[in-house]
Amino acid sequence: MSSFNDVRLILKLDLRVVTIARLSQPCNSSRARHDTPASGRLEGMDRPEESPGDCYSCRQEKAGEGAPLRERIWRTDHWRVVHSFNSALEGWLVALPRRHVTALAALDSQETAELGHLLRRTSAALGAVLGCQKTYVVEFSEAPGFHHLHFHVVARPRDLEDALKGPRVFDYLRRPASEWVTPERQDELAAQLAAEMAR
Ligand SMILES: [Zn+2]
Repeated sequence: MSSFNDVRLILKLDLRVVTIARLSQPCNSSRARHDTPASGRLEGMDRPEESPGDCYSCRQEKAGEGAPLRERIWRTDHWRVVHSFNSALEGWLVALPRRHVTALAALDSQETAELGHLLRRTSAALGAVLGCQKTYVVEFSEAPGFHHLHFHVVARPRDLEDALKGPRVFDYLRRPASEWVTPERQDELAAQLAAEMAR
């Protein structure tokens, strides 16, 4: 964890490097920008945190009602549920806090209180719409540009082959874009899931 927590800031003044400061805060900000949505790759552990202004998830949050339905399947006071944009598996949802949080321990009491109900409700909706056997819930928040805390809530198909069970299900986030669930299908699923969650 030390390489993750220690962020080096190189301060340049008059084109000269004048100092190197070493900070120990785990959730520092950087100017790194990642406009291209990343996949579920797990590299990037050495990278510093992006700030809210650099954060893909925060930009989607700001879009509000202007965002497509797949980006706002369900919203509570503190959480938003979306469909993964780069999954080859239907019903790969993501639950995110609506403010920029990068560690579970940073959630406030209201966010924490909502989370359990949200995960159960999301899982139940996936079961009702897709008939999945159960859901997988996973939180890493490590991919470059995606340090905004998020929980993968994955519809686990009844016929999922053994080679893709458990953590291996992330293979669905490593497929070529040609295999991703199309935005149109994501919106279709989002509408069904939203209706189910509103019951
Ligand atoms: Zn964010």
